[in-house]
Amino acid sequence: MPEGFSIPSTTPCPLCRGATSAREGWYHACSSCGFQFSNLRPGGGASGPGLERLRRSNFNILLNHLAALRPLTGLRLLDVGSAHGWFMQEAARRGLLAKGIEPLADAAAKAKANGLDVIPGFFPQDLPEDGLFDVIVFNDVFEHLPDPPSAITAVEKRLAPHGLAVINLPCADGIFYRIAKALWRRGMARAMFERLWQKDFASPHLSYFTPRTLQALVEGRTQLRRVACFPLLTLTRQGLWSRIALTHRGPSAALMFALLTAASFVLAWLPADIVCLIFEKPESGGVESQP
Ligand SMILES: [Zn+2]
Repeated sequence: MPEGFSIPSTTPCPLCRGATSAREGWYHACSSCGFQFSNLRPGGGASGPGLERLRRSNFNILLNHLAALRPLTGLRLLDVGSAHGWFMQEAARRGLLAKGIEPLADAAAKAKANGLDVIPGFFPQDLPEDGLFDVIVFNDVFEHLPDPPSAITAVEKRLAPHGLAVINLPCADGIFYRIAKALWRRGMARAMFERLWQKDFASPHLSYFTPRTLQALVEGRTQLRRVACFPLLTLTRQGLWSRIALTHRGPSAALMFALLTAASFVLAWLPADIVCLIFEKPESGGVESQP
């Protein structure tokens, strides 16, 4: 980290307890393990309608990777932060028995009205005690959690032997993130970097993982072991204009549309800004099998 970028912070790294440095009062980075986190105020939120097609495409890529690991039919799925229930619907179509847990009461009620099995509340405290799951999924949820180490411990406890934890999240190795951060370090592109953290949004990012820091967290705290890591799509051209129209107007919207359309053609060749990691629980061991 270059001199002058940040100041030493008194907040220890939540992953390794190492020393951290801070910038602009909200962004923290660990000098030992490289984990990046914020002290932004946690909150709930769900993606807008312009993102539905992109999300569903990514969910099917994810389900293809799961299907390569084992047959999906009859697997008991828990979708943490199930929002509109889009992932539950795609998973049910592939034969999984999908249950969701969703803290936003409105979203939970709507998904239930659509016939989905959704519990309103927070994981793990509002999940009924009984029952294990074969797959526990976090789609754009893990980076919003105030305490990732305790969340992953709870996941291990609620997974059946050979169960899979699936964590799909934004990646600090991604090309957009790295460009935005490099500019921000030089006092530029503040809005772009803050947008990636969803600063001043209802549901900001509290962590920004890389595959390396996420694996260190999961394998350091639990017996879960990484079995897959793959990129997901950041951008689709379908629905792009309606997504831009949510935040931009007039010439700036047209410019953004042109730039993102051009970017969509080269992104496939660049480090991904969204990744998904899958971890497997061993046959025996883990918390619930200890005396
Ligand atoms: Zn650290």
